Amino acid sequence: LLSVSALRKSFRGTPVLKDVYLDVAKGEVVALIGPSGCGKSTLLRCLTWLDPPDDGFILIDGQPFGRALVGDTVRRQGRREIDRLRPKIGMVFQQLHLWPHLSALENVVRPQVVVLKRPREEAVARAQDLLAGLGLGGLEDRFPYALSGGQKQRAAIARALAMDPALMLFDEPTSALDPELVGGVLQLLRRLAGEGMTMVVVTHEIGFAAHVADRIAFMDGGRIVEDGPARQVMEAPADPRLAAFLDLIR
Ligand code: ATP
Ligand code: MG
Repeated sequence: LLSVSALRKSFRGTPVLKDVYLDVAKGEVVALIGPSGCGKSTLLRCLTWLDPPDDGFILIDGQPFGRALVGDTVRRQGRREIDRLRPKIGMVFQQLHLWPHLSALENVVRPQVVVLKRPREEAVARAQDLLAGLGLGGLEDRFPYALSGGQKQRAAIARALAMDPALMLFDEPTSALDPELVGGVLQLLRRLAGEGMTMVVVTHEIGFAAHVADRIAFMDGGRIVEDGPARQVMEAPADPRLAAFLDLIR
């Protein structure tokens, strides 16, 4: 479903992503772990072209995204082409990104209408369905300031899911939450995984990585240096940097 090759990104001459390779099959859950500053958030932003990668290729469902190889020349896609594929990727950030001036319901309805051109009635029905399914039934009319951190994060997840993405990217979806709210959001991710959603989850929740993810990819210094079945990566890390990282966080 997602195939990333030789992805590179520098900020003012400092390389942050150095040849990242990552493949995610349909229905697979990949936990992306690694020390602070290793490039995890940058990788997710590059995958959605929120930040254009400097080099490398992304395929979504076999279609080139952002940059295509035609013969042996590289063609950078225009904004329209990028916008066409972008809704296939849903992204949920660490910091809650709800629109503060819109109710929970409108937060979920608006992008469906604006981006997917869905009829409003249909968008409202879908939003109500999703919000209820995520435990936010009855809170549709609340504005973000009147929701708890966990509720806001679930509304943000509902908003991403309403776009019917093929792939969901989560950047530390629980790290801004109070400890008692973390469990609920992790449980929701677990449920999505069970329903077959393809996901890449940046997380420090090592229990989640071990028990919900199919694979763990460990990033260090702008590269994915180890990538394998979750259990194998946890129990028998091959790279010494990964072994040291795991010792540090568990
Ligand atoms: P964390 O676990 O702390 O979230 P991370 O793995 O997500 O870390 P990134 O946010 O991807 O790390 O940052 C990787 C490196 O790139 C860091 O050194 C950071 O300072 C740098 N960086 C990220 N965004 C920018 C930017 N817009 N301009 C300049 N440098 C940046
Ligand atoms: Mg980050």
